[in-house]
Amino acid sequence: MALFGRKDKYIRINPNRSLRSDRKPEAPNVPDELFAKCPACKHMIYVNDLGTQKICPECGYSFRITAKERLSLIADEGSFEELFTGIETKDPLNFPGYAEKIQAAKEKTGLDEAVLTGKATIKGQTVALGIMDSHFIMASMGTVVGEKITRLFELATKEKLPVVLFTASGGARMQEGIMSLMQMAKISAAVKRHSNAGLFYLTVLTDPTTGGVTASFAMEGDIIIAEPQALIGFAGRRVIETTVREVLPEGFQKAEFLLEHGFVDAIVPRGDLRDKIALLVSFHGGA
Ligand SMILES: [Zn+2]
Repeated sequence: MALFGRKDKYIRINPNRSLRSDRKPEAPNVPDELFAKCPACKHMIYVNDLGTQKICPECGYSFRITAKERLSLIADEGSFEELFTGIETKDPLNFPGYAEKIQAAKEKTGLDEAVLTGKATIKGQTVALGIMDSHFIMASMGTVVGEKITRLFELATKEKLPVVLFTASGGARMQEGIMSLMQMAKISAAVKRHSNAGLFYLTVLTDPTTGGVTASFAMEGDIIIAEPQALIGFAGRRVIETTVREVLPEGFQKAEFLLEHGFVDAIVPRGDLRDKIALLVSFHGGA
């Protein structure tokens, strides 16, 4: 029994019975898109306060952005020429619900797969540019993602261009089984041929970069940059802890920890990325 006092008058409430059993509690009338919860500091942020860079004003966390948003922050306006579109995603295992999932992701993102590839200029320098988009099935790497990135490196090798690749991924795409794991070797071979030609490859690790993507081309850049607080790892914490039977340190898969331990070369805040990338490309023979 709960009692609510109002001066000398008490109302008895039976906790087993809803006072307004005929009415559902109304949710506050706030559209979802007005506020975003920061995954790092947990503050509710008014989305306009995130700005075009989508950075938390409370803690500096870089929110996950779409490939198209990234493109507009990095490339010179109107310079992007999209390439390698129209490669159809197959369903080699007839995985239940996979075809529908692909279709839904296409509609949601306006992309044909989890990576956007093409040529663009960054402060006037032409680069082969790839941007993975975590909004497309968590940017998991299936055969089409593998093929698009491989072709990007092959084009860059042929045209003697640097490659700038923004990684984000939940890892290999389980719906394509071993075919997705094969992409790790296929892309890595193309990266090696590009490297043998003396060309520059820059990776920018964004939140989250995990699994087979981390275990292959994300970590093969000549220079590896990460965004602040990005989650970067191979397997998740629980899997590693139960395998090695040790408790892992706090934040061991954050960009800052990886910088401290030599896995990444620099952490660059989103607002400085365009300038930094242009500078690095110019140092390494950009044209
Ligand atoms: Zn925050």
